[in-house]
Amino acid sequence: MATPNRLPNPTATSTGKPDWLKVRLPRGEAYERVKHLVKELKLATVCEEARCPNVAECWGGGTATVMLMGEVCTRACRFCHVKVGAPPPLDPQEPENLAKAVKELGLEYIVVTSVNRDDRPDGGASHFAHAIRALKRESPKTTVEVLIPDFQGVEASLAIVAEARPHVVAHNIETVERLTPSVRDRRASYRQSLDVLRSLKDRPERLYTKSSVMVGLGETEDELLETFKDLRSAGVDVLTLGQYLQPSQYHLRVERFVTPAEFARYQQLAMTLGFLYVASGPLVRSSYRAAEFFMKGLMEQDRTARGESVA
Ligand code: SF4
Repeated sequence: MATPNRLPNPTATSTGKPDWLKVRLPRGEAYERVKHLVKELKLATVCEEARCPNVAECWGGGTATVMLMGEVCTRACRFCHVKVGAPPPLDPQEPENLAKAVKELGLEYIVVTSVNRDDRPDGGASHFAHAIRALKRESPKTTVEVLIPDFQGVEASLAIVAEARPHVVAHNIETVERLTPSVRDRRASYRQSLDVLRSLKDRPERLYTKSSVMVGLGETEDELLETFKDLRSAGVDVLTLGQYLQPSQYHLRVERFVTPAEFARYQQLAMTLGFLYVASGPLVRSSYRAAEFFMKGLMEQDRTARGESVA
């Protein structure tokens, strides 16, 4: 599942939020430069549209998350603020334009995501693949992560994306199994997401895989632990855990605010299961600077092992 708007608007439900969810104000020269270029290049970034609390940290550190294939989703998850309806046709030039823009921005790490495009025969997989290839050609030193939809579990679509060899492929499971039917669109399922992640990991490209879980939706700690185990048994390498925040009064309520100490305990629990990296905290989102920094380090190790320059 692509979750361009699973990053909640932290200002939308400002009452009753604990101090640890207070958002830092964007600032800094690198941040201002990316902000200016993003506007000039007319890029749709999740960072801005979802008013992500980490935008200053990410843009200031050379990371951004962009959306392909428009801003209208064919699904309607109950936590997500994205528009729902019949999306417009694809812009065939979009992947090349994105690659040129990322080159100009000089980003070290790019996350490419999209809404769900169940209207497309391949769910938009070839559009993703085109973007991955263009990004790798134009910015060979940039680490490319794609955060993809489930493509309804269609293997051929997953293969199209995997064969373009993104450095990291992410698909978000979002929540525990029991809550999935009330949190995600009915066409998404917990088991299907696990199958997608397992299938990507089992492919010959040997891609790094990543998934994300929102907490505070009413899950129990035992259920979370089961989800961590399920993700590990699907071969997921990197996990991110963050607090769900209600984007508007029409979306699912926050059941509880998980404390930073609990996030730290979840991280320890998950790490004992063998993830390569777990980012866990109230403001952690599926695209998160610390996790991306870790992934970039892995890519550099891989390039060094192959005798390639990482300068
Ligand atoms: S699939 Fe669900 S989470 Fe992803 S963009 Fe559509 S509505 Fe949002």
